[in-house]
Amino acid sequence: MFEQSSRHVASYYAHACADHLVERDALEGEHDTEVLIIGAGFSGLHTALRLVKAGKRVTLLEASRVAWAASGRNGGQAILGWSCDMPPLEAALGYERARRLWDGMRWAAQELRALPSRHEFDCDYRPGHLWTSVLPRRVGLLTEWQHEAAHKWGHDGLRFIPREQLSEWVASDRYQAGLFDPEGGHLNPLKLALGLAAAIEGAGGRIHEQSKALGYREEGGRYVVTTEHGCIRADVLVLACNAYLDRLDPQLSSCVLPVGTYQVATAPLPPAQAAALLPNNACVTDNQFVLDYFRRTPDHRLLFGGGCTYLGGMPRDIAAATRPFLERVFPQLKGVELEFAWGGHIDLTLKRTPDIGRRGDLYWLQGYSGHGVLPTLAGARAVADAILGQPDELALYQGLVNGRFPGGKYMAAPLEAIGKAWYRLRDSL
Ligand SMILES: Cc1cc2nc3c(=O)[nH]c(=O)nc-3n(C[C@H](O)[C@H](O)[C@H](O)COP(=O)(O)OP(=O)(O)OC[C@H]3O[C@@H](n4cnc5c(N)ncnc54)[C@H](O)[C@@H]3O)c2cc1C
Repeated sequence: MFEQSSRHVASYYAHACADHLVERDALEGEHDTEVLIIGAGFSGLHTALRLVKAGKRVTLLEASRVAWAASGRNGGQAILGWSCDMPPLEAALGYERARRLWDGMRWAAQELRALPSRHEFDCDYRPGHLWTSVLPRRVGLLTEWQHEAAHKWGHDGLRFIPREQLSEWVASDRYQAGLFDPEGGHLNPLKLALGLAAAIEGAGGRIHEQSKALGYREEGGRYVVTTEHGCIRADVLVLACNAYLDRLDPQLSSCVLPVGTYQVATAPLPPAQAAALLPNNACVTDNQFVLDYFRRTPDHRLLFGGGCTYLGGMPRDIAAATRPFLERVFPQLKGVELEFAWGGHIDLTLKRTPDIGRRGDLYWLQGYSGHGVLPTLAGARAVADAILGQPDELALYQGLVNGRFPGGKYMAAPLEAIGKAWYRLRDSL
């Protein structure tokens, strides 16, 4: 469906990681492994690392380059929670089991902070995430979540920031209030993925790039996967292909709708100007339905994203499409040079709940619906542990039934686009 290329998109991250991009051999000839993971984004990489550390023989196949897709292009915001928020999870699972999922999310936030030093890499992690409210009527959502997080989910470190104190956090008049989460944070996602890949290889795992899985079949109780130049047999197969799964497994791919989303990075700003935009260096997300998100980089740029397209492509000029939104938040940056502009695809599910499950020895992780930096890590633990014989956490995810988009993807995309227009209207009222 989407062309996968051998080069990373021209993003700020590819620029920042240019000296660390190594090329890995494609799969050639006949191979054998215990666990085969298709897709080297966060889902595949986190799953692989946990499994190699537990002594499994693991091979990863990546159609393009490690973290070529969403994992190497995202906003880098490590936000606790899932795209759907907690109500659908609690409705599907009941409180006790939803609470265990939430605890898994907090584990993921802690684990993300520990991974770089444990595996000796840097990913520019900085602590702190700030939710903001644009509309006065949605300030209540921040205080409600603060209360619910503390009293229901045991997450009591959230701090409400009233409007009169917001200038200490973000130099914008657009917001009515904020909610600070010290357990969230932000990072360079491509650096994280490259660090994970090196850790996997250091522990004996194998990664093949430029190795698109063309199909899989079951044979003699094992899985056989073919690529253009090779073939590999495995006891266990994990599909971690996100928005790109497509014909590899039509049944699973019918549960996710690929949606384009994009962002920009300014040229480096004078350090004092960059620091003044976000004095505490937290990353920021607003609570509009069609949201803006932004953060600073270590080299004093502003990364700003938010737009999305439901009909497959990207705006022809991403910078031009994003600039009005950036300047609406920060009028002081009017006319600022936008050095990088890029997009990627996320995988929406019908209810925005993650789609993580198994059929026998076939496992999959997808459906993060645009919010995957921490959810991929939480989901990968569930899948890896199930492969290692502890299926309890995966069983929680299996209780979330998403289903197919009515009318299939061809109908779903225009319907989602209409839905988005409606919510954008509500955002503006
Ligand atoms: C622009 C953008 C901004 C975002 N911002 C944020 C954010 O700030 N915070 C947040 O939490 N989330 C964010 N997200 C979402 C987050 O990036 C994703 O949810 C997450 O990276 C998904 O990881 P993944 O490994 O499941 O999928 P991906 O990273 O998409 O990886 C899938 C991989 O599978 C490979 N693949 C597919 N098919 C095959 C095949 N047949 N054979 C071999 N390989 C194959 C692909 O090439 C790809 O590398 C954003 C996403 C985008 C696009």
